[in-house]
Amino acid sequence: MTGSIEVVYRGIFQKTLGQRITRGIVLAAVKEGRVGISFGRYGDSPERNGIPAKSFAVVADNEEDLQTYLSRYEPTDNDVTVAVDDTLCKGVESWAWYGLQPINKLTRSGGVVLTTSMQSPEELLEDCHRKDTEWSLAVLKGIASFSGLWVYKDDHTDVRVLGAIARLAPHVVKLESVEAAIRDEWNDELKVTSARKAYERVEARKVRPDEGNPERPYEFQLPKWWEMKEGLVIPGIPVQQDVEGWEGGYRPGRNPTFKKFATRTMRPVVDFEICTKCTLCWLQCPDSCFDVTPTGHYDANMEACCGCGVCEAVCPVENCITMVNESAFGDNASQFEMYEKDKDTYKSWLKGKIEDKATTDRTHGFQLRGKYEEEVQEIIREVTK
Ligand code: SF4
Ligand code: SF4
Repeated sequence: MTGSIEVVYRGIFQKTLGQRITRGIVLAAVKEGRVGISFGRYGDSPERNGIPAKSFAVVADNEEDLQTYLSRYEPTDNDVTVAVDDTLCKGVESWAWYGLQPINKLTRSGGVVLTTSMQSPEELLEDCHRKDTEWSLAVLKGIASFSGLWVYKDDHTDVRVLGAIARLAPHVVKLESVEAAIRDEWNDELKVTSARKAYERVEARKVRPDEGNPERPYEFQLPKWWEMKEGLVIPGIPVQQDVEGWEGGYRPGRNPTFKKFATRTMRPVVDFEICTKCTLCWLQCPDSCFDVTPTGHYDANMEACCGCGVCEAVCPVENCITMVNESAFGDNASQFEMYEKDKDTYKSWLKGKIEDKATTDRTHGFQLRGKYEEEVQEIIREVTK
């Protein structure tokens, strides 16, 4: 029997984690006398900060079955899809694809999406797109494990995910073989314990086709062959984009087919009432994502924002820009337009989002020395209790 697992992770921040999980699956399968292969496929080069990327593990009873399964571009019917950052449940997008891919798109009918999250399955289902067959959503309690740039700080997320997979898809790997592989690979009995606890604690719930986010994922029209120009033509992007009702404002031209909805783990919220219009956020944003409004405010455009947090860092006005966990948002609408429409509603929206930061604060773990160690306390409490 062939089994396949995909791990969806955030480029750079979680690359090592993704690789360790898929490698661990193959090592465990080998303990059962089976064969397997683990390989990565990234969506952007070289796995830029936060860009969704994938690592796969395929295991089979023999070489022939494995080769047969692998004679295609990538596994399209995975037993388990692992999202090691729960904000990826909103969908996966990389420039090489054609819009937004639902997190469960390549999960086979009856398969499982497993995510590490502090949210409940019901909350996560608001993000996961509907699928026309039944599937399961499993949650392994824990924050998204950001190891920081190229430095892997071990928080046991890799072995916890392996233990959870053994529970959710025992036909792919069994707990005993996961434990044996961990002993061989890491020689660490605490890691074995973490895997076993995850096996015991992971919770899954069935999802019916009428449950989940009903929105149609964003896509764009590919040109037909007769619409293509002769030779290699790369059309330039216009310098400015017109915005209806924004006379006097300015929106830079942007690539209409590459939106960054799926690259963020955090997003900025802006308090327009205390903004002094100093322009620093606009100048420093590495992705030129601020639109200049007719009133001279700067509106972070959520089609362009990758969530790096530079604007928050450079804004000289205290609490004017606050980076908030992406999981707190249900759409990508303009904050400035909400502010203009109804200032009171905006103020209470803003207050709610800033309060959310206090409970679901997240960073990429490298903003200040020791930050990541602080963040993983929740995982450590969960693993050791
Ligand atoms: S977080 Fe701020 S600086 Fe970074 S891309 Fe978004 S708007 Fe620009
Ligand atoms: S940096 Fe802060 S104060 Fe300056 S324009 Fe941007 S939001 Fe306003």
